[in-house]
Amino acid sequence: MRKILLTLLLCSQNLLWAQSFDLIPLGVYGGGDESNLSAYLIGEKDKNEFLSLDAGTIRAGIRVAISKNTFDVTDETVLKSYIKGYFISHGHLDHLSGLIINSPEDSKKNIYAFPYVIDVLKNNYFTNASWSNFANEGESPILNKYSYQRLEKNKLQQVENTSLRVTGFELSHGTFSKSAAVLVQNSADEAILYLGDTGADRIEKSENLAILWQHIAPLIKENKLKAIMIEVSFPNKQPETALYGHLTPKLLVEELIKLEKSTGQGRLKNFKIIITHLKPGGDQIEIIKKELHENNPLQLDFIFPIQGQKMVL
Ligand SMILES: [Zn+2]
Ligand SMILES: [Zn+2]
Repeated sequence: MRKILLTLLLCSQNLLWAQSFDLIPLGVYGGGDESNLSAYLIGEKDKNEFLSLDAGTIRAGIRVAISKNTFDVTDETVLKSYIKGYFISHGHLDHLSGLIINSPEDSKKNIYAFPYVIDVLKNNYFTNASWSNFANEGESPILNKYSYQRLEKNKLQQVENTSLRVTGFELSHGTFSKSAAVLVQNSADEAILYLGDTGADRIEKSENLAILWQHIAPLIKENKLKAIMIEVSFPNKQPETALYGHLTPKLLVEELIKLEKSTGQGRLKNFKIIITHLKPGGDQIEIIKKELHENNPLQLDFIFPIQGQKMVL
């Protein structure tokens, strides 16, 4: 009996240790509703030190999170004190408008992005014609609230005021935009992979996802990668010529089969795939969910995040 109790105790402790990240979706869609666009707070469990993965919706998402008792402080405290920095995947409005709109009330912090994304912020949004320059480079007057931190491909970088480290990867996102993924690691080297908008390599004529899969496959084999957050924007009926750099359920599976080739057969069974960036419209979201569940040869654990509802990973 004592042995059983001890085993149970060890198992439950392992379970506790296995939960390493808090993930709070502030917005989950890829359009159609300006109060619920891509933004996810990621942090070490119970620390309230977050990096915001994209920033489509900030304030409205914080308010929903407070209403669901995810936070027991004011929205101002979450915005100014809990969010320690932003990772911006690419320059599209549905990934950064919340950051721009809330900039007057925000506190001083860093924006982590590839140089091509910082150029979009600098030249198109933090300008006097569009808004004001709340960043530390570009048009005068420079208000110096945000500091641009340029990511370099495959290079680990510390997220200031957190115990998180990030590594950036380039993604292909249609003809006119380059996007990015980020691997977020905690002090125990556990990780979450977040991808901004991306097309499939075959459609984009790119190798970006193949390169990313090769990089993260060892982390999956070592059980260090907790989840992949990746977009599915359209149902399968969307023609491949009209994807505009996005994925369908079929293309996601096509890509993850390639990942499984590097991790070993059966290795992705029950692996958590958090589906982001669903584009609302008619019954499109229900169709996407149905198509993911009906064609799931790898037996992945598809998760659909809900605005304001904390997930522990
Ligand atoms: Zn988008
Ligand atoms: Zn986009």
